[in-house]
Amino acid sequence: MSGQINAFEMAQKQFDHVAELLNLDPQVANVLRWPMREYSFRIPVRMDDGSLRIFQGYRVQHNDARGPYKGGIRFHPSETLDTVRALGTWMTWKCAVADIPLGGSKGGIIVDPSTISTGEKERLCRGWVQNMWKNIGPRIDVPAPDIGTTPQMMGWMMDEYSKLVGQYTPGVFTGKPLGGGGSEGRTEATGYGVIYNVREAMQHLGMDPKKSVAAVQGFGNVAQYASIGFVEILGGKVACVSCWDRNDKKSYTYSHKDGVDPRFLLTIVDQYGTVDQKKAQAAGYVREEGDAWIAKDVDVLIPAALEGQVNADSVKKISKRVKLVAEGANGPCTPEADEYFKAHGIFDIPDFLCNSGGVTTSYFESVQNDMNFYWTKDEVLQKLDGKMIQAFHAVLDMALKQKVYMRDAAYMVAIDRVARAMQLRGWV
Ligand code: NAD
Repeated sequence: MSGQINAFEMAQKQFDHVAELLNLDPQVANVLRWPMREYSFRIPVRMDDGSLRIFQGYRVQHNDARGPYKGGIRFHPSETLDTVRALGTWMTWKCAVADIPLGGSKGGIIVDPSTISTGEKERLCRGWVQNMWKNIGPRIDVPAPDIGTTPQMMGWMMDEYSKLVGQYTPGVFTGKPLGGGGSEGRTEATGYGVIYNVREAMQHLGMDPKKSVAAVQGFGNVAQYASIGFVEILGGKVACVSCWDRNDKKSYTYSHKDGVDPRFLLTIVDQYGTVDQKKAQAAGYVREEGDAWIAKDVDVLIPAALEGQVNADSVKKISKRVKLVAEGANGPCTPEADEYFKAHGIFDIPDFLCNSGGVTTSYFESVQNDMNFYWTKDEVLQKLDGKMIQAFHAVLDMALKQKVYMRDAAYMVAIDRVARAMQLRGWV
């Protein structure tokens, strides 16, 4: 969202680099460099004080060669059309690498959701759908929550769509609340997906998960379940978690001599991912500076908070013991960090593979909605594990075969799949 870096130019550059590696037909590349469709619209909302406020809304549909468009809706004050274009493009690659039959899209509204009331939020959500309903749908484009939007908002949006089309259509939005068409396992999905990838990578690298120690950045949705999974699924130890404290406006790293107990931390973290300092310290946790996590003597780093955290400066602090980096967040490692990883033989699981468990379970949600039959949490997580195993090994095989780094290999797998679908459909 930074004003300086144009995210869409970055997305196009990444694409151009891989198109060259793949020797992609220039005509195919020309289609994939740009979104297929873009919607930009104004949403009038009656505010609680009786005034009328106009909000700017977007939906960018990048590519639907492999299936209906899929991607979140963000409510953010500095949303721009280019950010939405970039995120929509990345969704195409994420769905393709996870091998779910969906394309990529993204949407947004320029608004700070914390500054409007619940009623105003509901009217804004319904207004977005009133603008877009003819161009979304379970077979057209399936939005989901993202930054600033919640399962409740997806419930309102799904309701508005169902009213407009005249029939209950839960599969038009995913990320809905449980009991309102949502899927079991969605809360755990992204974090556990990270861990399924870590397990496969450890097997490839000959690491023993039970003897492995991880340092985690973040303690929000992704980091919580990545930490729990590291301990409960892999039998490893989590040395620390690092999180932002919204009261102090600073970040801190919490560690424990016996390894952190993520289930305990879950009981003392608020909905914004801030850990209660007093309760943590009372339970024997040591509090250090926010960036201390990156220098811990561990085998695995899991950056699962923000973008750009492992960068030219911070990467130099990494312990010599680190063998594996699992990108839980979107874009946590900069190109300089990539160079360091390559030079030091550190294996990296790139973000759009590593955190694709979330969108995969969103896909499972719409499948369950279509069937009007719902799976248990175990069934969802088992299916998720199967998809993650396939996705990880498709990328690893590409990396080994083409002798490229995992990030390039993930892009190559994804772009190749989308290009093939376009060719099979006779588009190019
Ligand atoms: P979240 O808001 O639930 O949690 C974010 C966490 O990061 C919080 O614990 C916060 O305290 C911490 N944090 C913020 N600034 C920090 C700092 N400077 N230092 C240390 N910690 C800091 O978000 P989330 O849903 O867990 O998402 C995390 C990342 O994963 C984001 O990049 C998001 O785009 C990505 N992601 C999330 C999902 C999902 O399903 N939730 C799916 C794919 C990708």
